[in-house]
Amino acid sequence: MLPVVALVGRPNVGKSTLFNRLTRTRDALVADFPGLTRDRKYGQANYDGYHFIVIDTGGIHGDEEGVDEVMARQSLQAINEADLVLFLVDARDGVTVGDQAIADHLRKQEKRVYLVCNKIDGIDAEVAMADFHSLALGQLHGIAAAHGRGVEQLLNDSLKPLADDYPELLPGKAEDSETLEHDEIDYDALPLKLAIVGRPNVGKSTLTNRILGEERVVVYDMPGTTRDSVFIPMQRDGREYILIDTAGVRRRGRIGEAIEKYSVVKTLQAIEEANVVLVVIDARETVSDQDLNLIGFALNAGRSIVIAVNKWDGLKQDHKEEIKRELDRRLGFVDFARVHFISALHGTGVGHLFESVEEAYASATRRVGTSKLTRIMEMAQDEHQPPLVSGRRVKLKYAHAGGYNPPRVIIHGNQVNQLPGSYQRYLVNYFRKALGVMGTPIKVEFKESE
Ligand code: GDP
Ligand code: GDP
Repeated sequence: MLPVVALVGRPNVGKSTLFNRLTRTRDALVADFPGLTRDRKYGQANYDGYHFIVIDTGGIHGDEEGVDEVMARQSLQAINEADLVLFLVDARDGVTVGDQAIADHLRKQEKRVYLVCNKIDGIDAEVAMADFHSLALGQLHGIAAAHGRGVEQLLNDSLKPLADDYPELLPGKAEDSETLEHDEIDYDALPLKLAIVGRPNVGKSTLTNRILGEERVVVYDMPGTTRDSVFIPMQRDGREYILIDTAGVRRRGRIGEAIEKYSVVKTLQAIEEANVVLVVIDARETVSDQDLNLIGFALNAGRSIVIAVNKWDGLKQDHKEEIKRELDRRLGFVDFARVHFISALHGTGVGHLFESVEEAYASATRRVGTSKLTRIMEMAQDEHQPPLVSGRRVKLKYAHAGGYNPPRVIIHGNQVNQLPGSYQRYLVNYFRKALGVMGTPIKVEFKESE
């Protein structure tokens, strides 16, 4: 599990600026369904060796009514799911009524809260920060999110104490041991961890029930907390699986409830835990950015994926054709993932999902030797020469496996760190085709030869 950090504060204090700095990417997962919030963002933070999930809660004024109240409530849910809350205030504004309201709320929570005074650049930080002691939230941390000043210190103070509970927070250490052991892991002997993820109401619980068989429903009906998925061991065709169920507690009746039970944090944690991620999409809704972001998140995390387009029952033929065209267009970036058209309700196509799950896992964990990888690299190089960099041709020398699940190929050569992105992508695709890899992202990394 990765720790979860929520950024909380009034609008304009610098939450998105800090979020962008911590994630260094535009791949934020934006929750975009109605009723959740308009702009709550989730990202994988990789900063100064720290690895965690960060939520930009979108801003609370402290005096919400109506729509804003719903939004504030959702921000409060994010706070509930977080291991650590960074409460941002604006050093240039002094303490506002909104800050006080948020502080009152946070003081009542049993949460680790750090008060972060942003925008200390170009002003007398000591003087500006003195005012905020009145919020009585302990030690103050001054930062300038826009310039990165103080951010490393903030993480050392606030996050490092969580390292004992979350070994993956500082992956540097964990990675070393993985590299040593990856050749000895017998992946076939391990249970395959399969996460079922997707937006609310796409049919995740229906599918989970279908997979488990109706008699198992009672077992899986146990209530989890908002952020923890339920892990369900099962067997199928002689293979052990652990289903990671994000759909959570069964709910009947009210529509709004589905959204309340849905948790992006839970989904992201499930993806982190899984070997293979089954992304469920609703055939009756257009493919949303949220669907694409979920897929992107899983691939970034190095997880294998299979896509299930659910509710394929009762659709007219021309409607089906139209949906398929739309999917081709929007899912082009994951053309290596299998897409299944299923009906969780009737069970149609559900069994075949497992063929692709197995295939993706096999692709992700298959051993490939140095000579084979080097041969493929040479073929790629013969068909399409690497470009010149400052007048010299980049030379690829040999390739070997750097790890599995996801598969990593390490290429050694001269000036390989200068290879343009287009050639790197060419190599990734070449390896993918030559190795027949399906459903899993592969990573090609480069090492400069001495
Ligand atoms: P949010 O609404 O809390 O997400 O705030 P934003 O991240 O959008 O920032 C609001 C404004 O403050 C933007 O104009 C930022 O450029 C500015 N800002 C953010 N961080 C800093 C900082 O460290 N120093 C200064 N001077 N301005 C900042
Ligand atoms: P979850 O929020 O993703 O767990 O979604 P549920 O499994 O609770 O399903 C949401 C709604 O979609 C329910 O009313 C289900 O009966 C319905 N549903 C689920 N799967 C199918 C399907 O394959 N076909 C049709 N027509 N409806 C489905």
